Amino acid sequence: MVTRQSMINPRPAQGPTLTQEHAWSVAATVTDPELPVLTIEDLGVLRSVAVHGDHVTVTMTPTYSGCPALEAMCDDVTLALTAAGYGTVDVRTTLTPAWTTDWMSDAGKRKLTEYGIAPPSGRAAIGQGPIRLRLAVRCPRCGSLDTREVARFGSTSCKALYECRSCLEPFDFFKVL
Ligand SMILES: [Zn+2]
Repeated sequence: MVTRQSMINPRPAQGPTLTQEHAWSVAATVTDPELPVLTIEDLGVLRSVAVHGDHVTVTMTPTYSGCPALEAMCDDVTLALTAAGYGTVDVRTTLTPAWTTDWMSDAGKRKLTEYGIAPPSGRAAIGQGPIRLRLAVRCPRCGSLDTREVARFGSTSCKALYECRSCLEPFDFFKVL
């Protein structure tokens, strides 16, 4: 446990130094309650961290506005940083620029595949045009590209339900946004 005293007179043996890098690494451990394999860093939801003394401001961009998981993620970030020794935590959300699947890290995409969810493929279209680049969705189980969309909405609204024609398994596809 980090006491106020150790924060005023930090001793290397006791508790971490409250730096931006440290605060980022703590916030980056928080996972998305809808996708527990992914951290908010993997998702690209964690945008910035600023530390002033023992006060930390975290800025996050939800995967889509009205994402029900956002509130839980904000609470978890506050809890994690408070437990790590930060006195006050201010979590802000910003919707501009809007989150895009391009922000998802390669590590995040790998974890999604291992979890059985096809990661977003290709890139989001530039601007708000109706035409989006659509690549074949690869089955996370057998790797086949012979897949088809079964339902536009899977277990959550950011996923679509797909079916693989090779191994006949259904799977979730994280939609490209
Ligand atoms: Zn398959």
